[in-house]
Amino acid sequence: MKHVAILGSTGSIGVNTLNVVRAHPNRFKVVALTAAKQVDLLTEQCAEFKPSIAVVADPDGALRLSKLLLEKKINTEVLCGSQALVTAVTESGCDTVMAAIVGAAGLVSALAAAQAGKRVLLANKEALVMSGDLFMQAMKQGGGELLPIDSEHNAIFQCLSSQFSTDANSSLGVEELWLTASGGPFRNTPLEQLESITPAQACAHPNWVMGRKISVDSATMMNKGLEVIEAFWLFGLPLEKIKVLIHPQSVVHSMVRYRDGSVLAQLGQPDMRTPIAYGLAWPERIDAGVVPLSLTQMAALSFAEPDLERFPCLSLAFAAAKAGDTAPAVLNAANEIAVAAFLDEGLPYLQIPVVVEKVLHSASFVKADSLELILDVDARARQLAREFIKEILCKQ
Ligand code: NDP
Repeated sequence: MKHVAILGSTGSIGVNTLNVVRAHPNRFKVVALTAAKQVDLLTEQCAEFKPSIAVVADPDGALRLSKLLLEKKINTEVLCGSQALVTAVTESGCDTVMAAIVGAAGLVSALAAAQAGKRVLLANKEALVMSGDLFMQAMKQGGGELLPIDSEHNAIFQCLSSQFSTDANSSLGVEELWLTASGGPFRNTPLEQLESITPAQACAHPNWVMGRKISVDSATMMNKGLEVIEAFWLFGLPLEKIKVLIHPQSVVHSMVRYRDGSVLAQLGQPDMRTPIAYGLAWPERIDAGVVPLSLTQMAALSFAEPDLERFPCLSLAFAAAKAGDTAPAVLNAANEIAVAAFLDEGLPYLQIPVVVEKVLHSASFVKADSLELILDVDARARQLAREFIKEILCKQ
């Protein structure tokens, strides 16, 4: 029986994780659930899965959750705040942690899971983008297992030999990793129409149902840029060996090209329950509740190079990845603030890359060798981004 903590249980990945767990009551026991604001949904989840710890963002939410759980006679300890996310990892008795909080808010708890030697199911790519070296060292020292949940990285993990480790990939003959990308909802939208894109349009992904932030990142292709950085840390290949391919059908989730000419791909429905089930049960395979893929029922599969003029965020991510040090943390922070301003404050869609570029140009980068330093860099980049956004919105 695996004891599972789900950080971000009320989000898209969190709910999908609970769907898989629900189908396998003899394999998985939920011991901690965390959310930020969605207290009602978290209450329902606690009533069903009876974790020992539940966490919300603030004291008001915690008070409400405690009352609701008392009414339902559910004996779950309720905590709040960012440190409580770490407690959910270290004190719940979990051996497996689904890190599915969105954005930098998930970094400290994901790192705590790595340090504590847990099986870390990493959906929260931003954590690895911000702290790659530190995070991978923490995994090594903690002695746990890191299983990528992002469908592309999960696919690559599946296509690599079972003896794979980041120190050994060259001897296994891995030449290139090919990350596939759908191209999002604006792959063919005339460039002049991008000016007036609304949040609802940007969040309407053609193939995947996801949270709002990653949906916008998929539209701008910043998501793929973050994934290139994520792949760099996970698989230990030089950046020039990590390629991006547009694949609008989202059936081939990524590929590995080997020295002998073989290319291994993982195919499947665009349904996150597949990589989630893979991570939860690895090295076994369990039923994920996913409709079987029918190759004869689908249109042709196509692949193309990404258009960097249409997707400037991808170029910015490549540049940050190349610069290294704290550049990816700065990129990530600026992007989180710009995306939030697009979603909630009327920042025009095309200004997202403008803000990210300005912040990257204004920041200087240093070695990302401590959590404190990374959090400080993150806070400064956010502040800069907010200032640039204020200027842009004032001029409108
Ligand atoms: P959602 O926005 O759907 O969910 C985010 C979760 O994090 C919610 O439970 C939310 O709580 C919680 N949360 C948000 N802010 C905070 C905070 N400050 N402190 C604590 N908890 C917080 O996101 P997704 O599930 O789509 O994505 C989660 C992560 O997984 C992201 O890093 C994303 O890039 C990655 N990912 C997602 C995929 C997908 O298909 N959705 C695919 C691949 C990767 P509340 O609901 O209460 O606000």
